[in-house]
Amino acid sequence: AAGMAGGSDHAHEELIDPFGRVIEDLRISITDRCNFRCTYCMPEEGMQWLPRSEVMTFEEIERLARIFVQRYGVRGIRLTGGEPTVRAHLPVLVEKLAAIDGPSGPVDLAMTTNGATMRLVAQTLRDAGLRRVNISLDTLDRAKFHRMTRRDELVRVLDGIEAAKDAGFDPVKVNAVIERGVNDDEIVALADYGRRTGVEVRFIEFMPLDADGHWMNDKVVGQDEIVEAIHAVYPLEQLPARGAAPADRFRYLDGTGTIGVIPTVTKPFCGDCDRVRLTAEGQFRTCLFATKEFDLMSAMRAGESDDELAARIEAAVATKWAGHRINQVNFVRPGKSMSQIGG
Ligand code: SAM
Ligand code: SF4
Repeated sequence: AAGMAGGSDHAHEELIDPFGRVIEDLRISITDRCNFRCTYCMPEEGMQWLPRSEVMTFEEIERLARIFVQRYGVRGIRLTGGEPTVRAHLPVLVEKLAAIDGPSGPVDLAMTTNGATMRLVAQTLRDAGLRRVNISLDTLDRAKFHRMTRRDELVRVLDGIEAAKDAGFDPVKVNAVIERGVNDDEIVALADYGRRTGVEVRFIEFMPLDADGHWMNDKVVGQDEIVEAIHAVYPLEQLPARGAAPADRFRYLDGTGTIGVIPTVTKPFCGDCDRVRLTAEGQFRTCLFATKEFDLMSAMRAGESDDELAARIEAAVATKWAGHRINQVNFVRPGKSMSQIGG
């Protein structure tokens, strides 16, 4: 339910779930389409795209974003997908969202991208008000990159990361999903890449959200294993508590930067989760692994007022569960895969 945040001149309501977690972060998927077909996310072919008329318009995205930021004090919005950069006129959307002021200042607008087109769009997005960018890169080997993404785009992605730095994004973070037997032999190479280029590499545990359903527990390379592999070559120490951020962070003892690990499977951080999500078709989700969605799109298109939409959002947040159950026998996979939810 919602409560008042007391004390300040900018008193606003907060979205607080039944476990006392305050919602401060909104992930918005702006398209279900993608120019890659990563094996841990999408099938090679046969993905059914949403008809364009069922995807939120920029006006609909902006309207919901305003409710979250201005009414409920959500601080951060991250654009994702699918691949957000394949959405036409993305800088126009970025400009609209970056202009939304919340109770404690402008919204912190970020994006997660596969990086393939960053050389073309990074500066425009930065100028439009995008503040932060995470780029996905799982391997430094061209043939393996081609196998993992089903696209021969390694060179472009590496250049895209440089383009993001050139455009002034700082820090640039690089996301690497590690899958056993696929790229677990490159953990140290990826760490090396981060040390060389000054980007923070964030290792992500493989989650059961792949479209073709090949996920198995023993394909997950856990945080401890990742950190030990790097520590053996470049000694690390853990940085203090992460708050609501999903990554556990570690610094190199020689001062050459930091890494992050997102241990969704082996060390779930649900207790600190401050996140909610909107899919590209305007469905509200209170967890990446939720099996239930709340249909804000139909409500908007039926002409509901902001108050009515807000009531739906509060009712949904009141159902946010304590945590996912990946490690339990009764875990049920969501009916959608990562690119359809918005990672
Ligand atoms: N297309 C963009 C990209 O790849 O960065 C944004 C969307 S993608 C779904 C968001 C993040 O989810 C990426 O870092 C991707 O590697 C990660 N991801 C996709 N499928 C995953 C899975 N099954 N387990 C863990 N992470 C996954
Ligand atoms: Fe596309 Fe990102 Fe999924 Fe890869 S992880 S298929 S780039 S949405």
